[in-house]
Amino acid sequence: MSIIEEKRDEISSMDAADPLAHLREKFVLNADEIYLDGNSLGPLPKATPERLARVIESEWGKDLIRSWNTNHWIDYPARIGERIAKIIGAAPGTTLCVDSVSNNLFKLLAAALALRPERRVILSLDNNFPTDLYIAQGLQSLIGRDRCELRAESQDALESAIDESVAVVMLTEVNFRTGERLPMKTLTQRAHDAGALALWDLSHSAGAVPVALEDCDADFAVGCGYKFLNGGPGAPAFLYAASRHHDHLTQPLTGWMGHARPFDFPLAYEPAPGIQRFASGTPSILAMAALDSALDVFDDVDMRAVREKSLALSDLFIELVESSPVLKELSLASPRDHSIRGSQVCFRHPNAFPMIQALIAEGVIGDFREPDILRFGITPLYLRYADIAEAVKRLEGIVETGRWREPVFNERSKVT
Ligand SMILES: *Cc1c(COP(=O)(O)O)cnc(C)c1O
Repeated sequence: MSIIEEKRDEISSMDAADPLAHLREKFVLNADEIYLDGNSLGPLPKATPERLARVIESEWGKDLIRSWNTNHWIDYPARIGERIAKIIGAAPGTTLCVDSVSNNLFKLLAAALALRPERRVILSLDNNFPTDLYIAQGLQSLIGRDRCELRAESQDALESAIDESVAVVMLTEVNFRTGERLPMKTLTQRAHDAGALALWDLSHSAGAVPVALEDCDADFAVGCGYKFLNGGPGAPAFLYAASRHHDHLTQPLTGWMGHARPFDFPLAYEPAPGIQRFASGTPSILAMAALDSALDVFDDVDMRAVREKSLALSDLFIELVESSPVLKELSLASPRDHSIRGSQVCFRHPNAFPMIQALIAEGVIGDFREPDILRFGITPLYLRYADIAEAVKRLEGIVETGRWREPVFNERSKVT
């Protein structure tokens, strides 16, 4: 008897006792498909189409321009920011829902460098998500290397590289490739000890793990709306700045939405008070409405319960894969230790790419990350323990039959 069969009753009882089980009902999920890619694009919440239809037909269609006031469109970025703040342990008035993660990084890095005019180094990791590094490179070419210099260190060298030359330490809490989670509080403290600022990318954290920005004393943060927050493809991102910095912050994209009095139309720029100065242009209301409705799902959710279930689902996944003789060539790429693991489970295999494609054809949606990673997002709001068992069973199936060797599974599309 395989371990999956042996554990069948235990797995059923885990689902029966799951305090988050009722939330699955709130999502549109394909029958017979197991969605393990909510860390790349969260699924559609059931309430979102109706909400969008209302915004389109009634607010846009009938109320037209009045909606900026009557339907509070103008307040969406701040209002959604407040909702996200609750999920990431941020104080009121510190978080704005705006633009993309990349754009927000640009604004915050520039603002951080301006707070440390005698320093020029942006310190990051060479395994960071590339866009974070690209944005720092872009800023470096724009303002010159004597004002901005990106240093991307290996993880082993990170702590010793935090020295008096560093203006800002830019890190992603949960690594997109392996799911390794960095100690936010400790590293923020290290940055502060050296007189540097700390900027955290929460793209794989927000809605996935409990984040405590204020408790960690973080200076800045950014994060993603379309991953664990389920805001839809290209959903607006968010940014955070600790309130102690607000009066001193300047940002380079000084558009009218970040002006103190945009509808007075003065000729000279004057920043709005607080976090609002990080707005630049007009918010995308349809996208904001979709994210706003997705956040309703989080209203009564305790992030500690989400974390507990995420770890249990992940542990089950790891146990089932590692005890399967068929899958002995897969090696765990994510940390085993809970304290340094985010909400994804990754395995390495030299043929990871065609294996993932074959698995998708079997209705288990994960993804591939260069060079050899099979990546599975663990999303406790809609995954059941039985889904994990079924996913491993189908993975065994494609390895056992060698189905992944079919040439069609080696064809690469633009998005992997
Ligand atoms: C997904 C992700 C992004 C995405 O950036 P966008 O500009 O919103 O496309 C950025 N950083 C990290 C770490 C990510 O995981």
